[in-house]
Amino acid sequence: MSTSHANLIGGEWTAGTPAPNVNPSDLSDVIGEYHHASLEQARQAIEAARGAFPAWSQSGIQARADMLDRIGSEILARRAELGDLLAREEGKTLPEATGEVTRAGNIFKFFAGEALRIPGDKVASVRPGFEVEVTREPVGVVTLITPWNFPMAIPAWKTAPALAFGNCVVLKPADLVPGCAWALADIIQRAGCPAGVFNLVMGSGSKLGPVLTGAGVDAISFTGSLRTGRQLLTEAAQHQTKLQLEMGGKNPLVILDDADLEVAVRVALDGSFMSTGQRCTASSRLIVQKGIHDRFVTALSEALKKQVIDDARTPGTTIGPVVDQRQLDQDLRYIEQAREQGAQLKQGGERLKRSKNGFYLAPALFTDTSADMTLNRDEVFGPVAGVIAVNSYEEALVCANDTPFGICAGVCTSSLKLASHFKRNSQAGMVMINLPTAGVDYHVPFGGRKASSYGPREQGHYAVEFYTTVKTTYVNPG
Ligand code: ADP
Repeated sequence: MSTSHANLIGGEWTAGTPAPNVNPSDLSDVIGEYHHASLEQARQAIEAARGAFPAWSQSGIQARADMLDRIGSEILARRAELGDLLAREEGKTLPEATGEVTRAGNIFKFFAGEALRIPGDKVASVRPGFEVEVTREPVGVVTLITPWNFPMAIPAWKTAPALAFGNCVVLKPADLVPGCAWALADIIQRAGCPAGVFNLVMGSGSKLGPVLTGAGVDAISFTGSLRTGRQLLTEAAQHQTKLQLEMGGKNPLVILDDADLEVAVRVALDGSFMSTGQRCTASSRLIVQKGIHDRFVTALSEALKKQVIDDARTPGTTIGPVVDQRQLDQDLRYIEQAREQGAQLKQGGERLKRSKNGFYLAPALFTDTSADMTLNRDEVFGPVAGVIAVNSYEEALVCANDTPFGICAGVCTSSLKLASHFKRNSQAGMVMINLPTAGVDYHVPFGGRKASSYGPREQGHYAVEFYTTVKTTYVNPG
């Protein structure tokens, strides 16, 4: 297979400036060259999408459903190979990476069905004799901007509904992980997608952003940092571009005295540290009631000691490397700052050497942290969690909601009453009871509240809201 990967513009593989894609588990391993697009090529991609839109938006829903189904089938059939690519370029373990690829395949299958179920209403008019219809139409040209932490699932959960509902797409994946997006583009192209309907443009977001998110597009779906998301919000307002943003999180996991200790430790270990803690749904604040605190901290610390931190593709590895040097430096800065602010480093937090030169970091568990420490305010986006001790459920709930973010919140308890209260009073878009805050189903809405999200929800049946626009038609049958 060629190691040189071009952009897909108007149905043609178009060369740009090659840049290496490096494996974070082994910096000597270059996965391939992926071509950065120029600004002119980004413009051409938008024009190609615009040109393809009239025919695609009018195409039959059966053809769209069949194409999405073919894409899903190929992704699922190649899940081992694509999982390996994902683990190699992003650094999550092979089982996690294969699971993500499976999710991507299932998402395409789900939206193959949704293409056939575009909803509408026919209602009586308040004016006798007239009729009213409410129909949904595609939005137009949609730019999809995706982050590095889910290189296959996030491009899939934006692309599949966009195409299902008749939009044309320009996908710009994160610079660090072009491999999965390129593989997806190749699959979409070979599944018979008409030229210009799906375009792939690789390269730096800050460079290509002004074109890809400028006046030429009808909608932008973005997942990434709060800083970039807010910038897009300001820019999109100038052009009245439809916008969907999924940004940071600072997710609480509450452990109450009556929790099953084993469940609580399993839930915290997974939610805080798996995928190297690099998930916007990671539980970075462990809010623990005093009666269970010491037992929980000891058991979680023991569990952390058993983790195998190594090459993401080595069998037995439970936690892979941090994604790159910049992210590793950021993690280490937050760890240092937490110590300076008086948090106790119970476990981990040190740079690790392995047989291969990669970005290895021992997952860090802090105790004696307070809600106002930087560690508990900022999104670290690494294998770092802080324990906050609380006296009561009421105090835990206040602490859980004390964040500008609101993607996900979890509680471990055996009390139905407290679980129900938490479910109703959590200020997060997703709530987990005795389950990790990270790890969600693919067929239901995903998204947060407060600073974490903006615009209509992603995924599941709710995706139709963003990727279509409503038309109300009045008919006088005469
Ligand atoms: P992260 O910290 O996860 O890298 P970013 O918000 O920087 O978060 O990146 C998320 C995605 O947004 C990436 O695909 C990146 O290239 C893109 N991006 C970054 N800056 C801009 C921008 N100014 N305009 C459009 N896209 C951008």
